[in-house]
Amino acid sequence: MIIIKIDIVGGSIAGLNTALSIKKYNKNIKVVVHEKHKIIGFNHEGRRCGEVHSMKWGWSKGKPNEKSIYNEIKKVETNIGNKKYVSYLKLGVSSMLNRQEFISQMGKEAEKNGIEIYTNDKVKSLNDLDGDYIVDASGCPSSIKRELKIKHGLANLTYQQTIEDCNWFKSDTIRTFFTGISGYFWAFPRNPEKKEVNLGVGTALKENINLKQMLEQFKKDNNITGKVNYVLGGMVPTGLQRPFSYKNILFVGDAGVGAFPLTGEGIHRALISSDIAGECIANGYPKKYPHRIMQEFIKWELIGKTFLGINYILTKIGPKILLSSIDYFTRFNFFVVKSGDYETKEHND
Ligand SMILES: Cc1cc2nc3c(=O)[nH]c(=O)nc-3n(C[C@H](O)[C@H](O)[C@H](O)COP(=O)(O)OP(=O)(O)OC[C@H]3O[C@@H](n4cnc5c(N)ncnc54)[C@H](O)[C@@H]3O)c2cc1C
Repeated sequence: MIIIKIDIVGGSIAGLNTALSIKKYNKNIKVVVHEKHKIIGFNHEGRRCGEVHSMKWGWSKGKPNEKSIYNEIKKVETNIGNKKYVSYLKLGVSSMLNRQEFISQMGKEAEKNGIEIYTNDKVKSLNDLDGDYIVDASGCPSSIKRELKIKHGLANLTYQQTIEDCNWFKSDTIRTFFTGISGYFWAFPRNPEKKEVNLGVGTALKENINLKQMLEQFKKDNNITGKVNYVLGGMVPTGLQRPFSYKNILFVGDAGVGAFPLTGEGIHRALISSDIAGECIANGYPKKYPHRIMQEFIKWELIGKTFLGINYILTKIGPKILLSSIDYFTRFNFFVVKSGDYETKEHND
């Protein structure tokens, strides 16, 4: 017997995982996923990411299978001005996802579980939906929040190039660079067959900023070579994006919990929030969702936003003091989250 119907807006990580989570707890609920693109996963949104997926702190549910991994990551280099910290990771803690394949597999799994997926189906208005509950997994900026005139919270702007035959390709290493601007640059190894690197920049500053120019300058300063074969960018929501629910609507992934404030990683959080949303809906306590989200994310929200707030002020004073603050905080962070998953050393080379 079908008890209720749920409409999910967005057929990416958060949307498909909410659908799977609902079915895990209650097979009788009718679940419909609406995705605006024609194909699940293999579309521009499926690609709009640096594609690092960390499974630290023992959280392994979103473990991708071999086909959806480009590279296993063994080293994380954090460059702060002239300093370099290298974290050595245990195998399986972090990987470079073939994110399009990862989402496509979730879509197939969803269909096997009786979830209805409508593609080429852009939800233009909430009036188009008749579900008892609606899950907004439309990313950032959320099209549903826009309709409800709810503004998104803090968000960083990003710009990324995928560079083929790149001289910076290192299959097992992800690198971040703090250079004294608000935000950071990253270099992540993508498809090894093409020696691709996802090279990007993200910042909280909105005025007088030309991200493409900044990235081109970074490439020049570091002699990074190769052919640009894909360009993307957009908003990365920085931490929690309140409200988490509104009437019969639950906001998941970028639309609700945003990305990790310190790193901009949102895949992990999209999976966690959608697990929780599915559980709350399927078990009949959707009103508990906001509270469960706060319990899960409040610690890093407080730490992350404090750090970002301080850095925002220091950006105005000067790059030297900003870099000292980032260095201090990075050491603190390594100390606090020492988890057995990795070990960090300072390098002077
Ligand atoms: C440049 C960049 C680099 C990033 N790098 C990383 C990284 O390395 N690691 C990491 O963990 N995170 C990273 N992130 C963040 C990460 O990509 C997101 O946090 C994550 O994808 C959120 O997933 P989601 O399912 O909530 O939203 P999305 O993946 O954005 O999915 C939203 C889906 O909704 C669909 N949709 C939107 N509106 C409608 C509508 N009206 N009707 C129907 N469908 C609709 C879209 O087509 C899309 O499929 C990065 C983000 C950017 C922009």
